[in-house]
Amino acid sequence: TTSSSPFVADSPVSYLKHYYGYDRFRPNQEEIIQAILDGRDTLVLMPTGGGKSVCFQIPALMKPGLCVVVSPLIALMKDQVEALHMNGISAAYLNSTQSGREQRTIEDDCLTGKIKLLYVSPEKLLTEAFFIFLKKVKLSLFAIDEAHCISSWGHDFRPEYTQLNVLKKHFQDVPVVALTATADRLTRQDIIDRLELNDPAVFIASFNRTNLSLKVLPGTNRLGQIVRLLQLKPDTSGIIYCLSRKSTESLAAKLQERGFSAAYYHAGMDPEQRARVQEAFLKDDVRIMCATIAFGMGIDKSNVRWVIHYNLPKNIESYYQEIGRAGRDGLASDTVLFYSFADVAMYKEILAENAPANLGVQLAKLERMQQFAEANTCRRQILLSYFSEELPDPCGNCDVCRNPRVTFDGTVIAQKALSAIVRLNEKVPMNTLIDVLRGSRNQTIIQNNYHLIKTYGAGNDLRFEDWRNYLHQLINIGVIEIAYDQHYALRRGILADSVLFGNRKLQLVRPDDAPKPVAEKVKTR
Ligand code: ADP
Ligand code: ZN
Repeated sequence: TTSSSPFVADSPVSYLKHYYGYDRFRPNQEEIIQAILDGRDTLVLMPTGGGKSVCFQIPALMKPGLCVVVSPLIALMKDQVEALHMNGISAAYLNSTQSGREQRTIEDDCLTGKIKLLYVSPEKLLTEAFFIFLKKVKLSLFAIDEAHCISSWGHDFRPEYTQLNVLKKHFQDVPVVALTATADRLTRQDIIDRLELNDPAVFIASFNRTNLSLKVLPGTNRLGQIVRLLQLKPDTSGIIYCLSRKSTESLAAKLQERGFSAAYYHAGMDPEQRARVQEAFLKDDVRIMCATIAFGMGIDKSNVRWVIHYNLPKNIESYYQEIGRAGRDGLASDTVLFYSFADVAMYKEILAENAPANLGVQLAKLERMQQFAEANTCRRQILLSYFSEELPDPCGNCDVCRNPRVTFDGTVIAQKALSAIVRLNEKVPMNTLIDVLRGSRNQTIIQNNYHLIKTYGAGNDLRFEDWRNYLHQLINIGVIEIAYDQHYALRRGILADSVLFGNRKLQLVRPDDAPKPVAEKVKTR
């Protein structure tokens, strides 16, 4: 803890100036602080980096008593508390790594009013011993950080959060402020209901980060595409999010081989190693961080110029949070998402295996993410509408706005695909189907005599990636279906018959890098 002569003033902005050194509030901050000072329960939705902390820290400093901050990020508590100490604010955290004596000292300091902010995990908060302590101390405020964890509709559901309703039951007069960076409409209502907030003041800051460009690219030859992107942005810092630990390592190695300043980061590394690469990245000694989503939480680096998603994120909340690590200084920054349908299939497989309690919710969220990636309308409009925010006009700073989609009559393409699917007895997955359509001679084809069917080679005028792109579009409009329970075999969808036998015409969208008539060698993947 830090001792400082207690600062007393009557306006929140003088606290902002005194403790944080900032001259003015950002949008919403002052109103939020006022609501809390008025004793109201409050819900704050603000994107990461928006400045949520001061919203509860300043009321905690201004009100008599102790502010208890509930946070699931035990690993970050120490950093958060240290940052407060640096600003001359007396704060502490309690967790299971501390000895009984240490914990006792902290509790005593809270009782005497020496500590203004106490960070605890929900597990700790819910223990009987802690409740006895809470009953003894004068409380100013409960701040529930990462409040979306309370909702099974949220993307990071933590069952222990659901018991936090005890706060309002036992401490009716202590205001509760719930804060989160990511909550759609349902999650938001769920937070209010589950915490039993009393007529809460709700503040929703804009999620529109206009300085971030949005782009989705097909997930093929990702390394080549990344190298090209990096060559356009020499000497800039950025993060490449990968799904697996192994791929962070191999990608970093490949980039290093090509002369880039790259490192990797994942939760499987020992803490020292992690601290070292993180530090190097913060100091610009390393420019490119190939990382799992473990990287970035609580890291405040303002000049991250780009974020690349090597794999599709699981949901829009995660995607938004991760791209949000770019451009915190407000300068133009780029985000790129590589989209491959294989990622969707893999998530579905993992989800089916683990069968989490909220499986349906997670699948629905994954589907929204997929729709975003496959969209042919302004991506920012889709993104903001997800967070219940309206953007009246297309943004002009996403790949769709920059390259309006060109459609053409794709009926023949659909018919070729469908007739091959029928002749293959609806038994083969996408890659095999494309190989048949393109007339590739590989083992699977020959062993199964697929080269003898009538549509073999009927689609050799299109590249492998183009076929994949068109098949995805056909899946989205319901012409083709994926049989998840049949090893992802493609089969006829509800519109199939009208395309095959009726006279339904179909519009398809040209892939971004439209197919030029290429004389191309047969691809093996
Ligand atoms: P969040 O918790 O919403 O992700 P933080 O509370 O960590 O964001 O704030 C992000 C950054 O913005 C911090 O560096 C913080 O000091 C800074 N910040 C917060 N409020 C202001 C303000 N009014 N003026 C300038 N900077 C601010
Ligand atoms: Zn746009």
